Amino acid sequence: MAISVFDLFKIGIGPSSSHTVGPMRAAATFAQALREQGLLRSTQRVEVRLYGSLSATGVGHATDRACLLGLMGQWPDRIDPASIDSRIGQVLQEHCLMVDGSHPVAFDYARDLLLLDENLPYHPNAMRLEAFDAQTSLLHQTYYSVGGGFIVEEAELTAPAGLAPTVTLPYEFDSAAELLALCGQHGLSVAQMMMANECAWRPEAQVRDGLLRIWAAMRECVDNGLRNEGVLPGGLQVKRRAAKLHRSLQELGKPNVIGSTLSAMEWVNLFALAVNEENAAGGRMVTAPTNGAAGIIPAVLHYFMKFNPGACDDDVVDFLLAAAAVGILCKKNASISGAEVGCQGEVGSACSMAAAGLAQLLGATPAQLENAAEIALEHNLGLTCDPVGGLVQVPCIERNAIAAVKAINAVQMALRGDGEHFISLDRVIRTMRDTGADMHANYKETSRGGLAVAFVEC
Ligand code: SF4
Repeated sequence: MAISVFDLFKIGIGPSSSHTVGPMRAAATFAQALREQGLLRSTQRVEVRLYGSLSATGVGHATDRACLLGLMGQWPDRIDPASIDSRIGQVLQEHCLMVDGSHPVAFDYARDLLLLDENLPYHPNAMRLEAFDAQTSLLHQTYYSVGGGFIVEEAELTAPAGLAPTVTLPYEFDSAAELLALCGQHGLSVAQMMMANECAWRPEAQVRDGLLRIWAAMRECVDNGLRNEGVLPGGLQVKRRAAKLHRSLQELGKPNVIGSTLSAMEWVNLFALAVNEENAAGGRMVTAPTNGAAGIIPAVLHYFMKFNPGACDDDVVDFLLAAAAVGILCKKNASISGAEVGCQGEVGSACSMAAAGLAQLLGATPAQLENAAEIALEHNLGLTCDPVGGLVQVPCIERNAIAAVKAINAVQMALRGDGEHFISLDRVIRTMRDTGADMHANYKETSRGGLAVAFVEC
């Protein structure tokens, strides 16, 4: 299974890749199938059934809204986030859903959107969509949202959908050990090897353009996060902090990275808070590799770009490519889904990816880069997913800031060594998978344990 850097970094909307972006893509795919199979005109009702974690925390993660938007033919990378409230408001007010953007059907939220206390066997994030005419079922499909906006159709379980088309890569690797061996044999950095692989899908100029578009979307997300103030939606009354912190940091003047790393760390916190507040508010953002963990990679990349006068576009490209190499290993050998392995899979993977990206830019050898990624992931092992109120706010927003700083520290530690270390990245990824398998379901994006139940609403 070949995974591209563009599978891991996708422009989307908040607040969740598995609960918002994936379901929206699934519903849009279903609407498209109705049109392509000539069933749209006969459709009189569409039913959405949400299972497992999509049901447990679906409303807090806007899964219900994402399904409606997808059925209306909207895609997460194209929809204007500012238009979402009015589109949903219209559906609920008029009890009418414009399927695929063109065909009106009656819609009753209580009847047609079912949150079920059941699980389907393949994955905890499951949903089933079914279209009916006056009498019978016209089309049905079950989808699994497996993290990072990836979706798998039940009919395609043997050939996962949502991934880039299968290609033959010049440097195929399934483990960090294989990645390091290939780098050594061919005298390539991790970023160079990843670029060669990406060129199996598209020319280098397109890879670069695509990655710079991703970076532009990350910057826009930070800018929006620094501008927008007030309280986050969802009812917890969580105040946005990034704009105020930004003003306060600007008053302190420019930090000196060499003399005072701590002041630079406050900026890292700021960038992560800005992204995750924007994500929690349902704004435009980039999966990195998921929405819940979307602040870590942009925060570390912003840190490098802001405090290095010579930083340029080539650095952005190398950072994202090296980060993606580690994301591919996490996805292939464990999971990037909080519903599958807990937050270690989301924030842990993103932290490890960010460390790899920064290590690449700071001149690490491939072995040092692997060490940095290993340190970053190791110290997220066991991290549970327990979002309060089913919202991607507490602990998610601060957790990204902490993990971004952790990624930088991991790189600093790795660069002080020669790449030799005790536990390999492969073993840590395997441990994440096994720990996730042992983890109680209450700690895997169901909001039934941990902080989610420690919080009592007054
Ligand atoms: S706790 Fe972690 S995995 Fe769970 S929703 Fe928040 S960021 Fe995602």
